Amino acid sequence: MRIKVTVIIVIVFSLSFIAFTVSPFWGFYAHKEINRLAVFTLPADMMPVFKKNIEFITAQSIGPDMRRFASANEGIRHYIDIDHWGETPFEDVPHSWSEAILKFADYYVLTDTDTTLVRGLDHESLPKTLVIENVENIDVEKLLPAFRDKFSRDLYGKRWEMPLYSVGVTTSLVDFGLPSNVLNDPGTKVQIVDRFSSFGITPYNISFVHQQLTRAFENHDLKRILRHAADIGHYIADAHVPLHTSENYNGQLTNQKGIHAFWETRLPELFAEDEYNYFVGRAEFIENVPEYIWDVLEDTHSNLEQVLAIERKLTETFPSDLQFCFEERNSRTVRTQCREFSRAYHDEMDGMVEAQMRKAIQSIGSMWMSAWILAGEPDMKQIAYEYTLSDEEREALQELRNKTREGIIKGRDHVN
Ligand SMILES: [Zn+2]
Repeated sequence: MRIKVTVIIVIVFSLSFIAFTVSPFWGFYAHKEINRLAVFTLPADMMPVFKKNIEFITAQSIGPDMRRFASANEGIRHYIDIDHWGETPFEDVPHSWSEAILKFADYYVLTDTDTTLVRGLDHESLPKTLVIENVENIDVEKLLPAFRDKFSRDLYGKRWEMPLYSVGVTTSLVDFGLPSNVLNDPGTKVQIVDRFSSFGITPYNISFVHQQLTRAFENHDLKRILRHAADIGHYIADAHVPLHTSENYNGQLTNQKGIHAFWETRLPELFAEDEYNYFVGRAEFIENVPEYIWDVLEDTHSNLEQVLAIERKLTETFPSDLQFCFEERNSRTVRTQCREFSRAYHDEMDGMVEAQMRKAIQSIGSMWMSAWILAGEPDMKQIAYEYTLSDEEREALQELRNKTREGIIKGRDHVN
């Protein structure tokens, strides 16, 4: 795998946190239902423990969304803007996170030995920096072994540095006139800047949490089993929402702003309880978890065009004064899509929201069960006691709730 690399300049990169003020959350109905119902897909050996802790599994289904208030690294775990990555992204985006980062990264070379190589710039303003343009032929295959461990230790990091001589790219850089004393100096570094993760990492994250869940089963660690199970339930539910797979995640690129919450919050709240059939059958063993997740995402993404096209058509044809209504929620008046307008959108999609919720429920049960099987099917009776929060955990949760109340979200909004 060869990639083109343009090395221009090293500047100070910082995570840019964009703060959004959001209205208080009220639409977690779907997440809670999906996690709760997944419990009933489990085999008899597993179900009693999950049933006993069903309150926790249900309540914690929204934990990952609440964490977005505390950590800027959380948001990217909930989506992947797969259509950002070209015409055939499901073929082109590597299914290994390290490879994906290396494929789309920016590369820089830093040195503290020969600043005179900075071309056309005052080296005083750019100490320790080599400015090299159009460096091609950096070989990802060669870089992988050197960087793979770094990525997994620092899963959500943004940039990594390694001595240049140690990563096997020196030959391609010789062409740019770098003297061998600079190439081989331990102070000369290649720096990789992650340009991939901010467009979402959900498939890699789900695999990672699944490994954690498997380990928790192996260790008979109920606390972690429940926490990771609840978390993975959230991420898988998100992976079934078409707008979680697109750069146009809130219709902002097509003048359809607000479609995200319309689809995933408003519609389930209005219609799910009375109309959806949640009998989804039993959990099934998943042979290859990472590939399974990519298949799920591809299937989810295939609905995106319809999600957008139907809303667009309806907005143009439905009487404009009947599209938005005011409703009372938690003693506040909110503007939201009218019931009839929502009904029209919902019915035009012909059961898509229900189908996606059903798939999510079955998928979560299957992921839980697969982790248990991969862990060697530990006897759940041995670890079946009720889990109660420790004092510290209670405090941490309270802190998170306070942050939630303040309404400051780090990163992208509308990624519930
Ligand atoms: Zn989410």
